Amino acid sequence: MSTDSSNVSTPPSPEKEAKPSNFVRDIVIQDLASGKNGGRVHTRFPPEPNGYLHIGHAKSICLNFGLAKEFGGKCNLRFDDTNPSKEETEYVDSIIEDVRWLGFDWDDRMFYASDYFEQIYQWAVDLIKKGKAYVCDLTAEQIREHRGTTTEPGKESPYRNRSVEENLDLFTRMRAGEFPDGSRTLRSKIDMASPNFNMRDPVMYRILRAHHHRTGDTWCLYPMYDFAHGECDSIEGITHSICTLEFEDHRPLYDWYVENLDIHHPQQIEFDRLNLTNTVLSKRKLLLLVQKGIVSGWDDPRMPTLSGMRRRGYTAEAIRTFCGNIGVSKTNGIVEFSMLEHFLREDLNKKAARVMTVLDPIKVIIDNFPDGQVDQLEAVNHPDDPSMGTRTVPFSKVIYIERDDFREDPPKQYFRLSPGREVRLRYAYFVTCTSVVKNEAGEVTEIHCTYDPASRGGNSPDGRKVKSTIHWVSAEHGIDCEARLYENLFREASEDEVEAQETEWAWLTPNSMINVTGAKVEPCVKGAAAGTLYQFERVGYFCVDKTSTPEMPVFNRTVALRDSWAKIEKGQKPK
Ligand code: ATP
Ligand code: MG
Repeated sequence: MSTDSSNVSTPPSPEKEAKPSNFVRDIVIQDLASGKNGGRVHTRFPPEPNGYLHIGHAKSICLNFGLAKEFGGKCNLRFDDTNPSKEETEYVDSIIEDVRWLGFDWDDRMFYASDYFEQIYQWAVDLIKKGKAYVCDLTAEQIREHRGTTTEPGKESPYRNRSVEENLDLFTRMRAGEFPDGSRTLRSKIDMASPNFNMRDPVMYRILRAHHHRTGDTWCLYPMYDFAHGECDSIEGITHSICTLEFEDHRPLYDWYVENLDIHHPQQIEFDRLNLTNTVLSKRKLLLLVQKGIVSGWDDPRMPTLSGMRRRGYTAEAIRTFCGNIGVSKTNGIVEFSMLEHFLREDLNKKAARVMTVLDPIKVIIDNFPDGQVDQLEAVNHPDDPSMGTRTVPFSKVIYIERDDFREDPPKQYFRLSPGREVRLRYAYFVTCTSVVKNEAGEVTEIHCTYDPASRGGNSPDGRKVKSTIHWVSAEHGIDCEARLYENLFREASEDEVEAQETEWAWLTPNSMINVTGAKVEPCVKGAAAGTLYQFERVGYFCVDKTSTPEMPVFNRTVALRDSWAKIEKGQKPK
């Protein structure tokens, strides 16, 4: 049994996790060989604290922290909190927890972009003094109108040629709060005819009276992302500033700022964002799911957030292995969700203790089993890992099995329990069905069996074979539990549908959570801590939910087992 919900998990060991090379890693290797940056590797993971981290962020975290670790470098955690209105401390706390849980450590290097506001402001002043920035009185709307198009150059702002003195004076007064929000901006003076829109005198500062989660009301002007980001990287001595592909067109601007300020020049490298089928990976959209009440919160087990996945039973190891295997490239693609589940199953198979749980119980009475007798049977907790030990499972005259493990009229190839058929009860005995009891509607309500006392432990007494082994729970000893089964939040959608964001909600899976009540589980799970992982034999991988109590354990299905029955009984969903 293992819990993976603690804050700190074992750090990833590089030799254990597959590390195929990729172009970013190749650049780092080359730079080390050429002696660039004095042999230093220093990366950063720069989340904006405006939502919880998702599996896409995990790719960036594994890449940035992974490179630093592999090459004896450093990776900073930096909160990109330049946009005051959307940021919250709750998000900061969750990000810290999630990066740690994934197994990475920033030592004492946790920073906030807002810590550098004064330095960034002074650099803006430097650019004004160099004649490379000006205060512009155009409104946002007018700036847009002046921007030009892909075929036409933009129009220069009438304020572009203000004197350095006038610019310095106005910028100082902007900071002092003399002008209303949105009335003026500071813009860099680059090239209104550049084919790259980002270079057409981009805005560096805007006036915005908004409370900041760290600086409070100290500032009424805030730097734009493009101006702040590279400057923060530079302050921290970052060598490789790794970001996603949508920033490729911003790189010339990133370079322009550090070059014109003549400060340390990190190299921006862009890689492909992770996209996954059957879900959305955008904080804005995930927030909508929360706000619309489609999910119960950021850590709803259906969410692709790290907190949701952790609650669902995903392990940090599985996520890291997945991230190490999806590749890092220069073109955006989409990864099958089933690939993530593949690495998850591989890890859970190793870690999850086996337990018997009956989700849809039907009563079985063993007629020749002595009344009142309880056999304590030994069961292994893991078939391949003796170090996980054994437990005893109580067996008695009345047990539950899965309704689906009995058929009155078994189809061909159905080898589980049916009238006259003998099967093995896992760890217990061979039993043979002798009769059934039905209700008025003709449904089977009780199955009667006899058992062979000589088959104790589920071993054949005389070499005779049974074709099926089924799981069970003693009626007297089993405890009630709740099992939550999940489907993907989104149905499989065509690429076109994915593109058309407006229709996204139309392909939400109806009933993506099924709450199974009335399930019965072995008594050994009583009191298991939230986050404990189990394999419910023949049923799936499950994880104890945070709402679980000793009286009513609650389990999230992490992922289904691959059920060979799905192949035989086509059309019937594997449990
Ligand atoms: P979102 O669209 O979810 O809001 P973001 O890029 O705005 O994502 P940030 O908080 O700015 O979110 O991201 C922090 C870092 O994580 C950035 O370097 C960003 O490029 C990276 N990142 C975000 N989403 C993904 C993804 N899907 N795949 C890989 N990296 C990602
Ligand atoms: Mg963002």
